Amino acid sequence: MSNSEVSKCPSEPLPEYAFIGRSNVGKSSLINMLTDRKHLAKTSGRPGKTQLINHFKINNNWFLVDLPGYGYARVSKKEKSTFQKYITNYFEQRKQLVCSFVLVDIRHEPQPIDMEFMQWLGENQIPFCIIFTKADKLKPAIVEKNVQDYLNKMIETLWEEAPKFFITSSSKRIGRDEVLKFIAQINKEFIENS
Ligand code: GDP
Repeated sequence: MSNSEVSKCPSEPLPEYAFIGRSNVGKSSLINMLTDRKHLAKTSGRPGKTQLINHFKINNNWFLVDLPGYGYARVSKKEKSTFQKYITNYFEQRKQLVCSFVLVDIRHEPQPIDMEFMQWLGENQIPFCIIFTKADKLKPAIVEKNVQDYLNKMIETLWEEAPKFFITSSSKRIGRDEVLKFIAQINKEFIENS
């Protein structure tokens, strides 16, 4: 189901996990890898185009939510504020959202837009993890260093502790089991507590 209004999102009380990040971070590729589908999420022909909240029901027991990519320069100011509104509405109102995954390209230094977004999630007590993408593009030692630098920067700036994180590569299928196991574990707790 795809729409731009939180009130029209599916009403089934299944645990839900949102995936969000800057345009081109590799979100569609990651979703396709996690779900073992080539074209479930549309890989970006034109970044910033898919401005919808997309719900995918997985194995009848959880929702994977593909949120639009942010930070695309060619989107107008008006589009940006409309986008912000329904995305913030989604995070503030969606009760069944149990965890969000903020995607970050492993090659890049911490970007203000990502840091601000995670700060906002933290302030609003919305649980999230970081998924570092495109790990195949760097040597393993550089991957480790970039992750450490990233987490250190978070701790230096405003966090008491670094969030949980995953290192992934969609082209090499790295990190798939770890992310899916984490989701399965939370789903189990969700069922036990409901
Ligand atoms: P989205 O805009 O965040 O949905 O990003 P896409 O999934 O469309 O990916 C953007 C670009 O990065 C595409 O050219 C992908 O082929 C590439 N890409 C995505 N994930 C990976 C990855 O794990 N490794 C490599 N090498 N390239 C990737």
